[in-house]
Amino acid sequence: MQCACPARYNGRMQSTNSDSPPSASCVVIGGGPAGLFAAVSVAERLAQADSSDTSKSVTVLEKGPRPGRKLLASGSGQCNITHEGSPEDFLEHYGSRGRFLKPALFSLSPAGLLSWFRERGVHFAIETNGKVFPASRRATEILDVLLARAKDQGVDILMNCPVTRIDRDGPEFIVNVTGLNPDGAQSLVAQTVILATGGRSYPRTGSEGDGYALAATLGHTIVLPRPALTPVKVRNHVLGRLAGLSFPSARFAIRRNGRKLLEARGDLLITHEGLSGPGILDASRGMEPGDILELEFGGKSEEAFRADLLAELANTPVTLVRTALVALGLPRRMAESFIELAGLQPGATCANLRRESREALVRLAAAFPLEIESLGGWDEAMATTGGVDTSEVFPKTMESRLVPGLYFAGEILDIDGDTGGYNLQAAFSTAALAGASAATRAGIRT
Ligand SMILES: Cc1cc2nc3c(=O)[nH]c(=O)nc-3n(C[C@H](O)[C@H](O)[C@H](O)COP(=O)(O)OP(=O)(O)OC[C@H]3O[C@@H](n4cnc5c(N)ncnc54)[C@H](O)[C@@H]3O)c2cc1C
Repeated sequence: MQCACPARYNGRMQSTNSDSPPSASCVVIGGGPAGLFAAVSVAERLAQADSSDTSKSVTVLEKGPRPGRKLLASGSGQCNITHEGSPEDFLEHYGSRGRFLKPALFSLSPAGLLSWFRERGVHFAIETNGKVFPASRRATEILDVLLARAKDQGVDILMNCPVTRIDRDGPEFIVNVTGLNPDGAQSLVAQTVILATGGRSYPRTGSEGDGYALAATLGHTIVLPRPALTPVKVRNHVLGRLAGLSFPSARFAIRRNGRKLLEARGDLLITHEGLSGPGILDASRGMEPGDILELEFGGKSEEAFRADLLAELANTPVTLVRTALVALGLPRRMAESFIELAGLQPGATCANLRRESREALVRLAAAFPLEIESLGGWDEAMATTGGVDTSEVFPKTMESRLVPGLYFAGEILDIDGDTGGYNLQAAFSTAALAGASAATRAGIRT
């Protein structure tokens, strides 16, 4: 049976005769950054081993009409591909999964990833906060390089090919692709399979969590997938009218049932419904509805803010309290809101400020309490926490501990990193390792 997938980027499908399904040394499922990079890694080793051996092939099956749709959305279309730093620096940005990722990050480090793209003509810009973007600020440049390299290496990329099931057949895999032709199922025989179907966030980009069912059918445990890197909605959002105000490197704490869970620092943004910004997105991985966020809008602890406010009140008794708050660093709109929330008149002056009102202002500025009503859903989350249980995957090869010849790459794994380029780096690093390991197993030794 011939695969009748309607679109392909490059074409080189292997089929021994018309009655047998096409076959490939390696079938990569998912045409995101992890899938494309893994496919290129396998194909590069194939070419290094014996460029005249056409019996070995790499096929990418992508369910959507185009590859890399989430990659194109990354960094608001500018692609924050990685972060400045050594592999060691990266480990702490993946929570408890840093340990699992260590061999992958050392195998393809942030510097190694940038070198790979630089060798193919991409220039990069490093921001002062350490985020790395292509200098062109175009995610398409990254995708174009991946696709060009895949073409150059003879990778077969088939579009509109949703994989619905993977079966074992002795040492090989039968990869089933359905819904494309009236005859029903189509299948490919593969020596090795790399699952790179991504997580569940931004399902409109094709990442709908299909890979979890594929992996589960082969015996893998799936850690419950949940949206990660999401903005939060706030109950009774009294600061909603301040939407648009941002606070660089603000400190905040999260309390659950009165107990402090976490203290963090990061850029915050007030939105119409709650809070966003990299600091909140990163911390959202540990938040639950009902948690209380205490925010240090004034940039100081309660003690420090109280001391500075007392000094300001003493020095400028005839000025407005609002002016004193602005002098202490609060944005004017926020100072006006705090005056109102503390029950003061807009014209209140420093000389008339009573102790209770002063203490109310100190709490608002240094420990503003906001209750989390809900976290953003799949349509807003930039990553997925949960996925294929990493305890069932060899960290040095990305091969399944349960199914020899099956590999994982990218966000399908139970790995999620902070914002700032950590998720794409994890996708590329796990892909490089999975690709190299799959090539070795498929008999492509360099
Ligand atoms: C809006 C947004 C912005 C982001 N910005 C950044 C950023 O700037 N920096 C950063 O580091 N990270 C960023 N991320 C996260 C990053 O994009 C992902 O971590 C990364 O794309 C994961 O790569 P992946 O290849 O594992 O999965 P994906 O990119 O999700 O690709 C998976 C592919 O598999 C395909 N697929 C799914 N099921 C099947 C199936 N059954 N058969 C065949 N194909 C299938 C999908 O169509 C998809 O093309 C962002 C995410 C979002 C949503």
